[in-house]
Amino acid sequence: MFKNFIAGEWLDGARVSRNINPSDTRDLVGEYAQADAAQARLAVASAEAAFPAWSLSTPQQRFDILDAVGSEILARRTEIGDLLAREEGKTLPEAVGEVTRAGHIFKFFAGEALRPGGELLPSVRPGVGVEITREALGVIGIITPWNFPIAIPAWKIAPALAYGNCVVFKPADLVPGSAWALAEILSRSGLPQGVFNLVMGRGSEVGTVLLEDARVSAVTFTGSVGTGQKVAAACVARMAKFQLEMGGKNPLIVLDDADLDVAVNCAVQSGFYSTGQRCTASSRVIVSEGLQQRFVAAMVEKMKTLKVGNARQTGIDIGPVVDQTQLNQDLDYVRIAQQEGASLAFGGEALAENAEGQPGFYLRPALITETSPEMRINREEVFGPVVSVQTARDYEHALALANDTPFGLAAGIVTRSLNHATHFKRHSQAGMVMVNLPTAGVDYHVPFGGRKGSSYGSREQGRYAAEFYTVVKTAYTLP
Ligand code: NAD
Repeated sequence: MFKNFIAGEWLDGARVSRNINPSDTRDLVGEYAQADAAQARLAVASAEAAFPAWSLSTPQQRFDILDAVGSEILARRTEIGDLLAREEGKTLPEAVGEVTRAGHIFKFFAGEALRPGGELLPSVRPGVGVEITREALGVIGIITPWNFPIAIPAWKIAPALAYGNCVVFKPADLVPGSAWALAEILSRSGLPQGVFNLVMGRGSEVGTVLLEDARVSAVTFTGSVGTGQKVAAACVARMAKFQLEMGGKNPLIVLDDADLDVAVNCAVQSGFYSTGQRCTASSRVIVSEGLQQRFVAAMVEKMKTLKVGNARQTGIDIGPVVDQTQLNQDLDYVRIAQQEGASLAFGGEALAENAEGQPGFYLRPALITETSPEMRINREEVFGPVVSVQTARDYEHALALANDTPFGLAAGIVTRSLNHATHFKRHSQAGMVMVNLPTAGVDYHVPFGGRKGSSYGSREQGRYAAEFYTVVKTAYTLP
């Protein structure tokens, strides 16, 4: 039984949740304590009590702790990556890559703890000096989704601690294992009691406490649009700071002058890898007329070679979908697309078991063609290995189609034209734009986030994270 970490102690919960391996549903990854609202409030109280001292800790103290956490994550990346693949279903190389990213993020923010910015300005009044500094906010409520069970927690927890805040972390219900492993490392890192708390439990119960408790100064959330709206409403009601990263319907434009291999690689990588369960996945490919037929044929040939199977087995390209609910949603969208008049060019069928006979939530990646912009497959996030193809007359039409979405997280273009690449980088209505690269796959030291319905508030990651995790103070002195 894996427990919650509250006020420096490992505590049983009110209930237990069973963490099931989506590659083999007979395999129980572990049983995890589920906190109730009272335990969530206890965690908030302990974080609040720890804040005055931690906010005044030295940069060296914060550096040492975060750097050591990063080192341990990196040293154990294979072991923790295996756990991540087992509970979430991305393939082992992808999972080890995600854990590596988490380690790098802790190392990056260890360095940031040593580089607190500030400005010293003369006043417009004689003899007066002005200092502009950043201070920690207080208790940060951290709510994360299931699709990046360690990287997203890392990119919220590391900056929160680096800038002197205390943390109450609520991971997604489906993937408590990686979150627990990270919390266990943090519990031995030398953080004073109460600075970091892990509270596993239901969103409607534990999550609600983080949204409504006046002692939580700020809430950082990554997840679905629907939950994001609840986070926003609750935080606005009590004037708490908040930040939302939500869904996407990310376009990948492929122009006539594209290198076909690069285009197929970008579409397959960002459409189907990690089972399409990435907020930055290219779920819409917009191909210009001249290349359309060749592109679809090349995609189908490539898709025939993709091996769907147990995430931890060598040679597997596509792991299972995370659970039955998500699998049903993926299958629903494949059916809806066909009902609305689109064609299924490849895949889209559930496989009850893999080649080894292990029962899991397997889905052959789906390519849907002959779609139009108003179809639900082009407007709503599926969050599975399901890619639609739209045809564009020319670059201008492709750009209009790409921007015709309520979302704005990531967008890509495959082209040899410097003109079109340059124009696209400027005119794409997305927070992150890729040229001749998959839309999924970003660096850990630069800002991450979207526009329109995908994101709200300041950027995450890189130096830009300071915007959210600190508050600016302007001090005037007449010596
Ligand atoms: P979700 O919204 O169902 O859950 C996210 C988290 O919110 C979970 O921890 C959940 O327990 C919690 N929660 C649920 N109800 C709550 C409530 N009433 N109050 C407080 N917390 C509550 O999302 P999910 O299914 O875990 O994740 C998939 C979604 O996340 C997709 O839409 C995906 O696009 C998005 N996502 C976005 C990004 C990004 O950076 N933009 C990254 C990864 C995932």
